[in-house]
Amino acid sequence: MQIFQHYIGGEFSEGAAQFDSLDPATGTPWARMAEASVADVDRAVAAARNAFFAPDWADMTATARGKLLMRLADLIAENGDQLARIETRDTGKIIRETSAQIAYVAEYFRYYAGLADKIEGAHLPIDKPDMEVWLRREPVGVVAAVVPWNSQLFLSAVKIGPALAAGCTVVLKASEDGPAPMLEFARLFDQAGFPKGVFNVITGGAEVGAALTSHRDVDHVAFTGGPETARHIVRNSAENLASTSLELGGKSPFIVFADADLDSAVNAQVSGIFAATGQSCVAGSRLVIEAGIKDDFLARLKAKAEAIVIGDPGDMATEVGPLCTLRQRDHAASVIEASIKAGAKLVTGGAALERDGFYFPPTILDCTDAPDAPCLTTEFFGPVLSVTSFTDEAQAIAIANDTDFGLAAGLFTQNLTRAHRMIRRIRSGIVWVNTYRAVSPIAPFGGHGLSGHGREGGMQAALDYTKVKAVWLRTSDDPIPDPFVMR
Ligand code: NAD
Repeated sequence: MQIFQHYIGGEFSEGAAQFDSLDPATGTPWARMAEASVADVDRAVAAARNAFFAPDWADMTATARGKLLMRLADLIAENGDQLARIETRDTGKIIRETSAQIAYVAEYFRYYAGLADKIEGAHLPIDKPDMEVWLRREPVGVVAAVVPWNSQLFLSAVKIGPALAAGCTVVLKASEDGPAPMLEFARLFDQAGFPKGVFNVITGGAEVGAALTSHRDVDHVAFTGGPETARHIVRNSAENLASTSLELGGKSPFIVFADADLDSAVNAQVSGIFAATGQSCVAGSRLVIEAGIKDDFLARLKAKAEAIVIGDPGDMATEVGPLCTLRQRDHAASVIEASIKAGAKLVTGGAALERDGFYFPPTILDCTDAPDAPCLTTEFFGPVLSVTSFTDEAQAIAIANDTDFGLAAGLFTQNLTRAHRMIRRIRSGIVWVNTYRAVSPIAPFGGHGLSGHGREGGMQAALDYTKVKAVWLRTSDDPIPDPFVMR
């Protein structure tokens, strides 16, 4: 069994306890992970707090911080194969995806490395002749980052990159389901030469997460996960009135009009829902299709879904791997069962595969006659597509917006004027037109409603890790007059 340790204050340690991590492809333990206690959380936050004020970080120029981030990006690229293999082994995310994603993780760090010395303050043309007023943009302080298991390296990079570029320090709590990639990542941090305590990684479940996010010495909480946990996080952060950024789930519509390039739309829908075995917050989990082309489109989707290569996530030929945990697999099965009871028709898939590991096949449910089917509203991480149809544009928008979430939407049409009308009316943080699931360090990512608030990616994410300080400087040498006159 491989051993993975915490990284606190620049030192690797066993943690108060350990737990076994399961290989989702076999359902058996493969590695032993350190598990934090509340005392470990305290140590990690203290390390981050001390590092935040220590001169080797606090007085480092933004350009020098950028160079450290660039060095980290290079190390990520050099060690990409190893990181991808570990993420695949611990979470079941297929190697095709982890290898492609790790290259992009390095790009995110490069982007924020370049951005570190472009976070600027401002000078104000103040309405008083003898005053100079300017704004300093200062790092918000100690950031607690809490992430789920899916795409952990990526979801961590979009927090760590901008937070460090802004000059913050970070304590990251990896997911209890598959923490190994984050613990391995910490080694590169060490090699890159960051001052001790600037970045710390601990593992553990809800209790450890609660201790971290309610900690009095945490200034900002950056969270990715489900809406129910987010409510706990917001309550926890109230302890310290820490600011929060929340990237939560989605129930994203994938809207297809009859005039669309249907070959492209089919391919985008297949990867939009079945990539990452459906464990993606932006999964296009609701197909909203023009009624006249529904049968043809569903027949094409069914054929593609049934041809998907399901197998060992470590094999480059595999297109769909196991779900990360047995809990996820059972949850997908229970939502499908309830949806069929509510009138949804099974087009393909529907039951866990009878083999070792947590495998579930690509599944399509036709909910045209089952508007109340729970699969249309429940956000669950599984390779399950729910289908509804529309007859006109107004109905398409009504169905698309009939959700408490608002993270992403796909729109397939060749009609430019319609596309612009739809873009305006769809309530979500991202709209992809004639494409799906494209991301970039340069573009913001985040949602409305139960999909959370705050944005990751782009300049805005770095600004969210700063606070503005207004500085007033009196330029007159005259004595200050009457003390009781307000100026
Ligand atoms: P989750 O909310 O159960 O857990 C996420 C993290 O929160 C884990 O590290 C967990 O240990 C921690 N946690 C749990 N209870 C806590 C508490 N009381 N206080 C502090 N921390 C606590 O989510 P999950 O089931 O691991 O992940 C799936 C969810 O994440 C889905 O809802 C999905 O949509 C969402 N997600 C969103 C994005 C995005 O960018 N919007 C990306 C990926 C996943």
